[in-house]
Amino acid sequence: MLAALSVLIELQALDTALDAARKRLADFPAAEQLSSQQLAAATAALDAAKAALNDSTAARKLVEKDVAGVDARLARFEEHKAAVKTNEQFHALQHEVEMGKQEKAAFEERVLILMMEADTLAAAVKDAEKGLAAAKKATDDLKAAHATERTALEAEIAALLAERATKTPAVDKPTLAKYELLLKGRKGVAIAPMVNGGCTGCHMGLRPAVQAQVKRNDALNTCENCQRILYYVPPPPAEPAPEAQQ
Ligand SMILES: [Zn+2]
Repeated sequence: MLAALSVLIELQALDTALDAARKRLADFPAAEQLSSQQLAAATAALDAAKAALNDSTAARKLVEKDVAGVDARLARFEEHKAAVKTNEQFHALQHEVEMGKQEKAAFEERVLILMMEADTLAAAVKDAEKGLAAAKKATDDLKAAHATERTALEAEIAALLAERATKTPAVDKPTLAKYELLLKGRKGVAIAPMVNGGCTGCHMGLRPAVQAQVKRNDALNTCENCQRILYYVPPPPAEPAPEAQQ
């Protein structure tokens, strides 16, 4: 095989690995942003749950005040009882007492409903607290995992670049320039193997004459469609057929 061709194949493997490592690093900010958004949403959910519980408690306190007001009124009626002179006055007072008792029962019913509502709302606050704790942990875990992976990826990139630097001097400058131009312009793939008579870079079939040239691996042949440099990997020798078992 042409020496430059084998170096370019090695460079392509290094550049593909570099590309993957850089893409992985580039994914981190978006993932971390999504995680912070989830944390913000969990914080907002807890705030809303707490506000609903506070509102319900405040409403119950108002109704409890109403109950106390009716109690005070009923106590005054009891005091008035002693001063009642006529049957008519007595019946009027009885009526007031009855109305007050009904009013109190209605307020107490409302207090009960609000107490049950508070139980539900308190449980919702607990759930929201758990949700926030989980979101915080997920954010922290993600950041820690990214920090570890970032260190590893940066080391990997440095090693790949160092290895790349040992390979590039083996290729003449115009060939390297052509390779690097293709790398940029062809989605990170500058050199591709020919498989089944086709370019694996663009998946177009190659003319028989080009196929024959590529098979020789003795020159920098390119795909007529995508301009990628082509090479050929001969198939491994066929395994001898296993002898039939008796
Ligand atoms: Zn092609």
